[in-house]
Formats: sequence, C-alpha cells, structure tokens
Amino acid sequence: MLNTLSLQEISALLESRECRSRDVVQAVLESIGKKDGRLHGYLTVNAEDALVQAKVADEARAAGHKGQLLGVPIAIKDVLNVKGQPCTCGSKILTGYTSPYDATAIARLRAEGAVFLGRTNMDEFAMGSSTENSAYGITRNPWNPDCVPGGSSGGSAAVVAADEAIAALGSDTGGSVRQPASFCGCVGLKPTYGRISRYGLTAYASSLDQIGPMTKTVADAALLLQVMAGGDPADSSSLDMPVPDYRASLRKDLKGMTLGLPREYFVGGLHVDVERRVQEAIEVCRGLGARIVEVSLPRSREAIATYYIIAPAEASANLSRFDGVRYGFRAAGAEDPIDLYKKTRAQGFGPEVKRRIILGTYVLSSGYYDAFYLSAQKVRTLIRRDFEEAFKTCDAILSPVAPTPAYRIGENTADPLQMYLGDIFTVPVNLAGICGLSVPCGFTADKLPVGLQVVGPALGEEAILRVGHAYEQATQWHRQRPGSLS
Ligand code: GLN
Repeated sequence: MLNTLSLQEISALLESRECRSRDVVQAVLESIGKKDGRLHGYLTVNAEDALVQAKVADEARAAGHKGQLLGVPIAIKDVLNVKGQPCTCGSKILTGYTSPYDATAIARLRAEGAVFLGRTNMDEFAMGSSTENSAYGITRNPWNPDCVPGGSSGGSAAVVAADEAIAALGSDTGGSVRQPASFCGCVGLKPTYGRISRYGLTAYASSLDQIGPMTKTVADAALLLQVMAGGDPADSSSLDMPVPDYRASLRKDLKGMTLGLPREYFVGGLHVDVERRVQEAIEVCRGLGARIVEVSLPRSREAIATYYIIAPAEASANLSRFDGVRYGFRAAGAEDPIDLYKKTRAQGFGPEVKRRIILGTYVLSSGYYDAFYLSAQKVRTLIRRDFEEAFKTCDAILSPVAPTPAYRIGENTADPLQMYLGDIFTVPVNLAGICGLSVPCGFTADKLPVGLQVVGPALGEEAILRVGHAYEQATQWHRQRPGSLS
C-alpha cells in the first residue's frame, strides 16, 4: 500500500532503497485505476510517461544522485504548465493546448526529481468553490461521493485524500487550496503572496494568485514549499527573500506562542459541527501550551464584496488572451477576426467564467471604476491593516476554513451568491497577501472532514506550519482515510 504513505515516508523508503520509484508509481496508478472512474479527480493520467520518469529516477538514484523528491509521483492542478502536457484550466477554450514550458514551481520540483503523474480537475480557470464549474465533468468527494470535493482545486484534494497521489499542487486565489483541503480532509497551504513564483501558473487574478501544496501531512507541505519557494526573475512579483528552513520550525512546540481568535469569525452562521470541531481544536492548541487571545478583524465583513470586484476585474483582463488565435480551441465558421473572437469565446467559456468577465469589465468601465474597483482597492487596504493590527498581539490566527463542510453536488449551483459566501474565511487572507494553512480537525456527524485554518502574517509560514504540525501530531486526524470508494 505504498500509495497510502506520506511524501516523507515514501522519500525515506526510496532513500533506503526499500522500494523503487517504479513500485510507488505503479501503486498509485493501481489506485487510480480502481477509484478514479467514480471519483474523476484526474483529467489526464500520463501512466506510460510516469513510468518512464520513474525509471529515470531509479537509475539516477542507483548512479548516486540525490533529490528531495527523487521518484515521488505528484499530481498537478490543470492550471500549471508542465512541458509537453495539456493545460486546459478546466475549460473547453484550452482543449488541444500543450504546454511548451515548465512553470517555475514545476521546474523546481523537477530539479529535485519529482514524477509528474497527471493533471487534476478544477473549476474552469479556478473560478468556483466546488469543482462543478469544470467543463470536463464533476469530481466527487472521496468521503461521500454525493458531495462536492470543494474547489477550485477539488481534483487535487480528492486524489490526495483517496491515495491516488502522494501529494499534489493547487492554486489559491480566494481559498482554492485551503477549502478543498478542508472538504476532503487533507492539508493545504496558501503561501504569502510572492513566496512562490507565479510564472507558468495560468493567471486568474494576478494580485491574489498563489500556488500551494496539498498533502497528507503538514511536514509534506513544508517540504514542497521548501523546494518551490524563492525569488524568480520571470515573475517580478515574486519575493526575492531568503527561504528559511521550514522543516526546522516543525521541531518547535506551541509553548510561548500566542494564537488569536477573530471575534467576528465566531458569531453564528457556522455549521454546528464545524464550530464544535474548531472549538475543540482551539482547546487542543491551548493544551499544547499556546496562549489564546481574542483579536478583531472588523473589515472581514466586506471581504466577499471586495474580492468579487477585484478578482473578476483582474480576470476580465487576464482572460482576454483567449481569443481563438493563440491557444487551444478555435470556433469554426467565423467570417472575420471579430466574429472569430466572439464565436470562440461564446462557445469556449462556461457560464461562471462569462459571468465574471462581464462583472469585471463592468467594474472597470468608465463611470463605475471609482464606485466599485477603486473603492474595493481601498477596502482591501483596510482588510490588510486589520491583520497587521491583529498580528501585533498574536503569532497566528485560528479560524474555520469554511462555514460548512462539503455540501451535496448541485446544492449551491443555482445560487452563485450562496456559493461566494462560502469563501468568507479564506478570501481575506488573499486580499491581505498573507499566508494560511488548512489542517484536518475532525469530522461532522455525517463523517465529512472539517478543516482548521491557521493564518500567519506575511512570510509567517514558519509559524503556521509549526502550529499545524504540533496540532496534527497531537490529534492524528490526518491518518483517517475515506472508505466510501473502496
Ligand atoms: N472560490 C473562490 C472563487 O470562486 C476562490 C477561487 C480560487 O481560489 N481560485 O473565486
């Protein structure tokens, strides 16, 4: 059962030659063969190619090469460019597109010997919270196939939780790594804006996007962050700051740490089991020696409205490049170039993407720019200041990841606003440009996973990984596995 092990455990076995990369890749492929027909976490699985990569890794190891990820199979959200592989972003408009280059994060994983196994399903262009907006079908939640896996990185969360990958990458613009991780019971890390280069990550909202690891343990997330973090001349918004030893921070306990609870985040509207599990998690952290204090984030109330102005505004600009000329799908029967753009975009984009392009174009248009876009930018600054104020009195903030556990497929699709409201605890973190971690913290009465969010200041990854790891070791929720698909 090599596929059930964590990245760290697999690396140790590979290192001591107790197994080969080939065995690991085969175990993962078998698991995919058994479960993914039902789950549909993957859009493409490169079985043959993965076995070739495994062989290369095994030979490299035999020749004395080392690499922190040498021979470890990792699943990649279909929004990140991996040379020679498709990158549809869950959209029909990118059918037939093959990446000509590696994203920087991918190149860094490749340099450490990672095996790229396949592409995971997602909401179209990462717009959504349930993976129901994919043009290529829904992904199911491994804990209950009638429920969504969360989104937009729902495929990555589902395959990690179902042991169809050792680890995965997602992207997080407003919660897309943390929320599916919490719905599927795995770990998801959204690093500080700029900590990981966005070069080769297909842009949704460039001032908010970050790549993040989705893993079985906090230590695995720390390892992947370690490999991917650092400045990059190809992304001028990446932070050229020293990368600390994240794994060293895992060795510290919670004694001497102060954790903040935002007063405004625990005021009703929460699913009762989510509230209970998060309260229990807070008590566990207290028991581990952390001091718990109250903090205030009053402007978080405006976060949804702010996010759903800024993100669509940026998306409307970023998605203008998909015109039927340069990438992927091109509509047939166009009479002239304008007609080609119109037909391609009308047929190529799904309804949620169109809604956001229209919304984004509207808030940027003359006459509405000041009232919407500019106001949203000002509120964004206030949201960031709230966090700066809060972090004067605490090292990290604890909250739920989402107000509810995974909901039933179709339950929220008729009402986009309802879907957007589910992002209330995650979008403030992106708007502030800071970091957040989702860690499994137990189950609802219906046996659906619940996630605890640990939020840190800019470049505070060490603090949140330390809290997440100490909590995880004390509770062991991460060892639970879904039984519904086997
Ligand atoms: N659910 C949010 C949205 O729909 C966040 C998505 C994301 O982080 N990519 O935009």
